[in-house]
Amino acid sequence: MVQKPIYVTQPSLPPLEEFIPFLEEIWHNKTLTNCGPFHQQFEKALAEYLGVKYVCLFANATLALVTALQALRITGEVITTPYSFVATAHSLKWNSIQPVFVDIDPDTCNLDPAKIESAITPQTTAILPVHVYGNPCDVDAIERIAENYNLKVIYDAAHAFGCKYRGESLCSFGDLSIISFHATKVFNTFEGGAIICQDAKTKAHIDHLKNFGFVDETTVVAAGINGKMSEFSAALGLLQLQYIDKYICKRQQIAQTYSTELAHVKGIDCINFPPEHQSNYSYFPILVKPDFNLSRDELYDLLKKNGINGRRYFYPLISDFPMYRGLPSANKYNLLSAQEISEQVICLPIYADLELASVRYIVKLIRDISI
Ligand SMILES: *Cc1c(COP(=O)(O)O)cnc(C)c1O
Repeated sequence: MVQKPIYVTQPSLPPLEEFIPFLEEIWHNKTLTNCGPFHQQFEKALAEYLGVKYVCLFANATLALVTALQALRITGEVITTPYSFVATAHSLKWNSIQPVFVDIDPDTCNLDPAKIESAITPQTTAILPVHVYGNPCDVDAIERIAENYNLKVIYDAAHAFGCKYRGESLCSFGDLSIISFHATKVFNTFEGGAIICQDAKTKAHIDHLKNFGFVDETTVVAAGINGKMSEFSAALGLLQLQYIDKYICKRQQIAQTYSTELAHVKGIDCINFPPEHQSNYSYFPILVKPDFNLSRDELYDLLKKNGINGRRYFYPLISDFPMYRGLPSANKYNLLSAQEISEQVICLPIYADLELASVRYIVKLIRDISI
């Protein structure tokens, strides 16, 4: 079967003609940025859609992570996961904070709460877990530890747009949560991100920090950054909100097809989500186990040869990159589960416009090898 290459994701976009009126309004107002009308509308609409208290929009999630750490005045050491996108640890580095890597729970791919306490030192000020693939962290256990040791919790919820846990937005846990609207994510504004916070005072502080520290024309209260989302992205976000449920619904069909058809393939495991969880189907990770007929990288290459570009999210581990591998916590014996999952994972293509026929073709490629 010859076909166009398929990538792990393809951004979802609304009909172009529906975006034109938004652009006309921007051209007419001549307000391009600095928290203009679309920015304000999008913040409100998002808070409502997600069911969260306060939203602070950002140009991207990395700036939002860096700013979130500043907003809570985090210093010293922060406990985090090696099994994530590099931006998670980079946000600590940009604040001169030392990441302390703790191993993951291999069933969820998230930070293992049972291993957090032994990594806490007098320098520890916060925990920065990631809801990997939108799969909820053990938020109760993490909250208990944070309370006992007086630590802040900042969730990297970059994957968790629209996810719900026990009926609540997954972004409403912790002191702050950060979402990404990058082109590769479930919900995109080309580039974009947000901090979710729980009170108006924190929102005001974050809003100052993302605008150079300006409070008014002549008052600067902190060495802030330029993290503002432009009117273009905010307008697109408003329009995307009208379509997001449709996008997620189509992803759900794809995820179900993969789950059903891969269920009995020897040596291929799917990652299970807890039943109280409503997913956004942002990724479809599989684990290539030792009893599969090919190694993970052999399967990855074979899929690629057949036009199917999976991604090894997350390989290598963050703790294996040169700027982190010298840390004591980056030692691979400290991170055995993360190492193992990282060497077995392939995220299969999943996006709203992916045809079910393509999903079946991908499944067939994998199945044929297992026989
Ligand atoms: C995508 C991603 C980020 C960074 O988001 P940007 O909006 O691209 O800056 C951070 N953390 C995780 C886990 C991500 O997947």
